[in-house]
Amino acid sequence: MKTPFVLHIDIDAFFAAVEVMLNPYLKGKPVIVGGMPDERGVVSTASYEARKYGVHSGMALRTAGQKCPHGIFVRGRYHVYSRISEKFIACLTRFSPRVEAVSIDEAYIDLSGNRYLHSSVYALAEKIKKTVEREIGLSVSVGLGFSRLGAKLATEAAKPGGLFMVADEKTFISNLTLEKIPGIGNHTLLILQAMGIKRVKELERAYPAIWKRTIAPHFYSQSRYPAAREAKTKSFSRETTFPEDITDRDMIVSHLAYLVDRLSVYLIDHDYFAGRVEVKARFSDFSTYTKRMPLEYPTYSYNNIWSKALFLLDQLIKKKKLPLRLVGVKVEDIASQRDLLPFISIRSEQLSRGVSDIKRRFGFSSIFTARELLLEKIYPVERDAIVLKTASLTK
Ligand SMILES: [Mg+2]
Repeated sequence: MKTPFVLHIDIDAFFAAVEVMLNPYLKGKPVIVGGMPDERGVVSTASYEARKYGVHSGMALRTAGQKCPHGIFVRGRYHVYSRISEKFIACLTRFSPRVEAVSIDEAYIDLSGNRYLHSSVYALAEKIKKTVEREIGLSVSVGLGFSRLGAKLATEAAKPGGLFMVADEKTFISNLTLEKIPGIGNHTLLILQAMGIKRVKELERAYPAIWKRTIAPHFYSQSRYPAAREAKTKSFSRETTFPEDITDRDMIVSHLAYLVDRLSVYLIDHDYFAGRVEVKARFSDFSTYTKRMPLEYPTYSYNNIWSKALFLLDQLIKKKKLPLRLVGVKVEDIASQRDLLPFISIRSEQLSRGVSDIKRRFGFSSIFTARELLLEKIYPVERDAIVLKTASLTK
């Protein structure tokens, strides 16, 4: 029998679980992370107890408040989550160099190389699960499959807190309902459901062409794990919804500068270079625009990323004569190495590195650029963060 070799691991109800860990009084209660029920913004994570009332991530906080009026709402401590996430990934990389972090609480591991060292992949998966749970203090779910899709769906089947190994991936996926399959859009789903097609196997039978395009490629790519050899994430982003819509450009700029600052320090701490930057703006009418451009060379420098980000922001705010509701920034094309670049000046990188050393020693808030300081007028400043209303990490 062939053995599955792709492991997918996901922390159960991550943000909510951290809040419970830090405050045991919350254990067994419906915990909703993201903000207060009378605030704008959305739920980032709901505990399983809150999910019973129909609360889920992405839901408006007000709706969550209606569905679960006795829920315990917390704003969230994103720098704490981020530290635990780093520990989580570091723990995984001890088991395989081929770890691919896909979000703050989720990763794939290619175990194909470990198969010769451990008699059973299942036993290895159990060991990874136990080790991670002991080290980060949170429950995780684990799936084993022959492809990333198979492993991820196995994790879904294992939730919460289980370990599920797929023996026959094609049969397993064929029996799933279509809404379980990532990558099938809502629109397509509705059309297919209206035609009476609910499961993957019905799709294969009735519309083999669609099946071939959407599902089959996952099976054909089984023989080799397509991930890179090193821990890598495709992008990192930071965004925030404002407490009130903002018209003042300086104030918007100040938010963006702070988010870029956080990203730059993150890149430095993890020895990453970014190749491209994208800025996102959401207006008061909820219309959302993004613009991106390449950086001159792969870099982690605050100044290099900032100058592009500011340019992009100014393009975006021209689009509508409306106040802004949210601003965000993302860096992409992430690499942990770059070729030697003989003609560039690394002064701004040295500066960023120096600043990040100071932040590491004396706290993130020990040093800011002048343009970030406007934020002190509207938010509390803590040692390691300015407490924005909603901070959102890469999800
Ligand atoms: Mg999770």
